[in-house]
Amino acid sequence: MTPFLRADLAALAPYTLPSLPPGPLDRLDSNESALDLPLPLRQDLAAKYTQSLEAHRYPDSSHQALHQAIADYVCQSASLPAGTIGPEWISAGNGSDELIRSLLIATCLGTGQGVLVAEPTFSIYAILARTLGIPVQSLKRDSYTWEMPRETPSGVRLVFALHPNSPTGNLLTPAEVTWLRQLPPEVLVVVDEAYFEFSGDSLLGELLEHPNWLILRTLSKGFRLAGHRVGYAIAHPAIITVLEKVRLPYNLPSFSQMAALLVLDHWQEILAVVPQVITEREKLLAGLRQHPVLQVWPSRANFLYLQAPDPGRLWQQLLERGTLVRHTGGGLRISVGTRAENERTLERLAAIVAPA
Ligand SMILES: *Cc1c(COP(=O)(O)O)cnc(C)c1O
Repeated sequence: MTPFLRADLAALAPYTLPSLPPGPLDRLDSNESALDLPLPLRQDLAAKYTQSLEAHRYPDSSHQALHQAIADYVCQSASLPAGTIGPEWISAGNGSDELIRSLLIATCLGTGQGVLVAEPTFSIYAILARTLGIPVQSLKRDSYTWEMPRETPSGVRLVFALHPNSPTGNLLTPAEVTWLRQLPPEVLVVVDEAYFEFSGDSLLGELLEHPNWLILRTLSKGFRLAGHRVGYAIAHPAIITVLEKVRLPYNLPSFSQMAALLVLDHWQEILAVVPQVITEREKLLAGLRQHPVLQVWPSRANFLYLQAPDPGRLWQQLLERGTLVRHTGGGLRISVGTRAENERTLERLAAIVAPA
């Protein structure tokens, strides 16, 4: 019926979440912040909308103010002198998802060359590659770490490394970083630091030494801005110039730019709750470890990953009790929620795996 569509797309499934039962639900499946922005900031944003947003005009397509604000945050959060990373090192996307697609377009599309990932990892890399007909090679992760091939696999132009990884929650090991460093200059190394605000650990320093490295970050997690869709890339200006060519001209709505500028202006206040999230994560970890049937890993992000004998069934049983988590990579990934949500997670899990 639709012979004009690419046949390879028929095999792909749309990125949809499962249909959900009615009633209240603890949504711990997407690693969003459990807390919304502080009320005064939301009020400030609402006032800005009324007073200065021009709904009838296209957004600023240069992102100048945003690039500057991001560059300032990047330097401050890395204790680098202001200007070490300038706005010419930044490109902003409609979520880092858009940047992932732009990177695929800018490196692999139409070349027959592909990407390399270490699975399980963030599923979007492979999903977006396949929609562009770009081949995906994967290394196997033994939960924590992956087998590093001696030689660069042939046909690879882009490597996605995640620091810390999702769903497993661990940082790249020193050996893995060393392996990434020795990749030839024909390969772009993308280090996704979506959870940097929780891990506090960045490979930013590598950028200054390796012009074939790029760091991805997002405002969707620690900055609590998932609804506004803002992510960014940090890389040598030669790469940024091409990302700016590839993106849609008006990729970032005016209101999203406004919201991003606001949270970046208040970054210390917004990130002040990160230590509480980490405390909650450690309590959740300790609680999960009470159950020998669950194998739980430590995490440097705002989620935990566990393996269980029948994860699909456990996922369903949790959902029936009102907790939605992510069934991925052969295990369950559980976002750290509010204290009340985390307590419910532990109670519900206990009721399932160790009924009284
Ligand atoms: C959440 C997440 C992102 C962020 O995506 P956005 O499109 O910016 O919301 C990117 N990479 C990983 C690994 C993530 O978990």
